Amino acid sequence: MKNIVILGASGSIGLQTLDVITRHPDKFRCVGLSVKSRVDAISDFLNSNSGLVVCVEKSSDAKNYSIAFTQHRFVWGEDGLIEVATLKEADTVVNALVGFVGCKPTLAAIEAKKDIALANKETLVAAGKIVMAAVKRNGVSLMPIDSEHSAIVQCLSTHNKSIKRLILTASGGSFRDKKRSELNGVTLSDALNHPNWSMGAKITIDSATMMNKGLEVIEARWLFDMPFDQIDVIMHRQSIVHSMVEFEDRAVIAQLGTPDMRIPIQYALSHPNRLALDLPSLDLVKAQSLTFEPVDFERFPLLKCAYLAGKREDNRAAALNGANEEAVSAFLRGKIAFVDIDTFVAEAFESMSYSELNTLEDAIAADQMGRAWIKKKILGGNV
Ligand code: NDP
Ligand code: MG
Repeated sequence: MKNIVILGASGSIGLQTLDVITRHPDKFRCVGLSVKSRVDAISDFLNSNSGLVVCVEKSSDAKNYSIAFTQHRFVWGEDGLIEVATLKEADTVVNALVGFVGCKPTLAAIEAKKDIALANKETLVAAGKIVMAAVKRNGVSLMPIDSEHSAIVQCLSTHNKSIKRLILTASGGSFRDKKRSELNGVTLSDALNHPNWSMGAKITIDSATMMNKGLEVIEARWLFDMPFDQIDVIMHRQSIVHSMVEFEDRAVIAQLGTPDMRIPIQYALSHPNRLALDLPSLDLVKAQSLTFEPVDFERFPLLKCAYLAGKREDNRAAALNGANEEAVSAFLRGKIAFVDIDTFVAEAFESMSYSELNTLEDAIAADQMGRAWIKKKILGGNV
C-alpha cells in the first residue's frame, strides 16, 4: 500500500490522479490533498473518505470546511501546503499544482524523503538544478507525469545508455494551422479549444504558444541530464506517439498510447511495475495515419526563447517562466490579447538582465523579475 498526497487535487491532473487511486484501493491510499479554493470539485472524494489532511489557500475557507467535513483536518496557506507535502505517513507526493507556486512544496517533500510524481513542470524549469540536487542528496525518486517525459522513461526502461537524442512530440496546440498574422482577434474560447487533450487553462494556452514544449525541453534536460542539442521537438498532430529516444546505433524506441493522462499518472505511481487500467485500447487502424512535421521556430518564438534560456543554466529560465505565467494569467483575465503573450514574453526575455542561479531564493527573485516586467508592460510603464 502506497500512501499518497495530491497537491492540486481539484485540477485536471489532480482529479485524474484521484480517479487512478480510486481504481486501485488495494495499492494506493490518499492521505492528504490540497486545492486552492475549489473544495466542491473534490467533495465526493471527501464525503467517501475520512482522516485526510486537506489544505486550502484561505484560513476562512479552512474554518468553514472544518465544520462541513468534520472527518478531515483542514490547514491553509503556504505553511499548510508544506505540512501536507511533508506528512509523516506519506510515501509519494503527486505535485499537480500549476505554476512556480509548486516549487517550495516539492523541495520540502524531497527534503522530507518523499518520492515525487511531478506534473508541475514549472518547478523543474525554474529550479531544476536545485531540485535535482535535492533528489540526489535525499535518495528519493522523481517520476514525471508529463506524457512526453513518461514516454521517455518508458523508452529508457530496458536500456538507458548510448542515447543519441530525445525526440519530444508536440501537437502544436489550438492554433497550429494559423499563421501568426491570423492570430489577431482570436478569443479565449478558441485558445482553450485544444485539438487532442482536455487540460487546465494555463497549460492549454502554453500549448497554443508552444511555450509548453519549451518548458518541456528544459524539463527533459533536468530529468534526463541531456544537453539541449540532443533534445529535439517535432510536430505530431495526433498525440499518439508521446515521445521517442534515438540510440547511437540509430535504433529509435517510441511510446504510444491514446491521449489520456491517467496512463502516465498511473505509471508514475506504479513504476517500475504496470497495473491494469480499464481504458479503451489504442486503435491504430482507426487513427489511420501518424504524421510528423518540423517545428517552425519563427511561428512559435517562445520555443526558441526556452532553448536559449535553458542552455545558459543561469536564472533566465526562471525569469522566462515567471514572465510567461504573468502574461498567460493576464490573457486569461482578458487584460491582453493572445498575440501579446509571446510578443511580451519574448521582449521581456531579451530585455531582462540575468545572474547565476544557485538557491531557491535566486529562483524566486528571477520569477518575480519576470512577473514584474510583464505587469509593468501591461500597465504601459517603461520597462
Ligand atoms: P489546473 O489548473 O487544472 O489545476 C491546478 C491545481 O492547482 C488546482 O487544484 C488549483 O486549485 C491548484 N492551484 C492553482 N493555483 C494555486 C495556488 N496559487 N496555490 C495553491 N494551489 C493552487 O492545472 P492542470 O492540472 O492542467 O496542470 C497542473 C500541472 O500539470 C501544470 O504544471 C501543467 O503544466 C502540468 N501538466 C498538465 C497536464 C494536463 O493534462 N492537465 C499534462 C501535463 C502536464 P483550485 O482548483 O482550487 O483553483
Ligand atoms: Mg506534455
